[in-house]
Amino acid sequence: MSPSHSTLADGFIKDKERARWHDQTLWFVRHKRDLAAKSLPEWEDLRVAASAIKMHTQQQLADYLELFERQATKLGAKVHWAADAAEHNRIVLEILQSHGVTRLVKSKSMLTEECHLNPHLEKHGIEVIDSDLGERIVQMQGMPPSHIVLPAIHLKKQDIGELFHRELHTEAGASDPKYLAEAARQHLRDKFMRAQAGLTGVNFGIAETGGIVICTNEGNADLGVSLPKLHIACMGIEKLIPRAKDLGVFLRLLARSATGQPITTYSSHFHGPRAGGELHIVLVDNGRSQIRASSDYRRSLNCIRCGACMNTCPVYRRSGGYSYNSTVPGPIGSILSPAMDSAKHYSLPFACSLCGSCTDVCPVKIDLHHQLLTWRGEIGKRNQLPLDKKYGMKLARLVLGTSWLYRLSGWLARKIVPRLPRWMIYNRLNPWGKQRELPMFPAQSFREQLKDRQQHKPQPKSQTSSSHGQS
Ligand code: SF4
Repeated sequence: MSPSHSTLADGFIKDKERARWHDQTLWFVRHKRDLAAKSLPEWEDLRVAASAIKMHTQQQLADYLELFERQATKLGAKVHWAADAAEHNRIVLEILQSHGVTRLVKSKSMLTEECHLNPHLEKHGIEVIDSDLGERIVQMQGMPPSHIVLPAIHLKKQDIGELFHRELHTEAGASDPKYLAEAARQHLRDKFMRAQAGLTGVNFGIAETGGIVICTNEGNADLGVSLPKLHIACMGIEKLIPRAKDLGVFLRLLARSATGQPITTYSSHFHGPRAGGELHIVLVDNGRSQIRASSDYRRSLNCIRCGACMNTCPVYRRSGGYSYNSTVPGPIGSILSPAMDSAKHYSLPFACSLCGSCTDVCPVKIDLHHQLLTWRGEIGKRNQLPLDKKYGMKLARLVLGTSWLYRLSGWLARKIVPRLPRWMIYNRLNPWGKQRELPMFPAQSFREQLKDRQQHKPQPKSQTSSSHGQS
């Protein structure tokens, strides 16, 4: 069994100062999102429209995918279909090998992270450089992104200074963001110049035009595919929208939800290959059809990967992205990952307080906390709960469903637990108590308090005196 979310989170919260800083930094981003959302009076209408467009596209996905393929082909792109990660990786490798490519620059693509494309290409002798600054930083560390929009958000500028000193030979101890960004720019510029192909993700594919749209703040996607002649774009089949005019709804929601910006700095449109070049679009399923077939989880495919649900989630902010042990962390990752492998990701739907804040901020109105609750039941039905949780829940059901047992446990909690030595309560068997203290128990149960009050209830005033008062 792979390590649970709480086991991995344990490592993250050991560094209290970092955990506090991570929490506050993401809350700052969430606050920026709130200000940006409130600046648009039509915000809620946009959310409703985005959700409706996505649900409509899902209902007719096969038709829209075929339309997209036809239109993209007319524009001169070559469209490939990949049923799973292995086929995706094989297709990309074949395209690169057939063009003799050994140096590739890549802009941010969570899909290629999901498919583990980088190690696959590197195994076949192809150098892959992630060109988004945050992604390049975590790539240098040999780690995956810890957040889908802010891949290196768990690192402080001092950490990056040390890393750059080691890898890029910047000055020891330097942590000035401008200096470090300039060093990264020089390092990446060389990689861009030498690249033989550029690979990008896709934020939106437009069925009626066959075009694709890629959103970045650094312009790295544009540079990465403008210098070499070969552009490969990898796109999950859920990224489709029907018409070009739908795009405005999503672009207005995406940047505001992600970082609080009114618009992403670069929204780059590609309609066919550039003159003399080649554009390959790889459409990837990798479990998406299975999610689409489930009425409980279908809406999770509406996700536009803005990261807002992570920035607001009290569990994500306090436990860090790596605690989720999956490509997409946070609330949406806790729905998508069990759909891929529920035995491996059994603990993720439980890494949630069910506060519903994710659902409130989601720009495409995904009912995230409801789906997380449904997943909990599903994990139980599949018998994938660890034994302590399984039998703990059975015991809780018995106690809560048997009135004399419930009363007895209340009496024990009030009368016996406060007298127990500390080691009997706060020990290995009580992970709940690792960071929490039990509250003070009241001296009386609710029933006892009610009985007392009823016995000492003041008598109502007589009808006569009341009439006198009114006259
Ligand atoms: S689930 Fe919603 S809030 Fe979370 S990343 Fe996707 S679109 Fe954004």
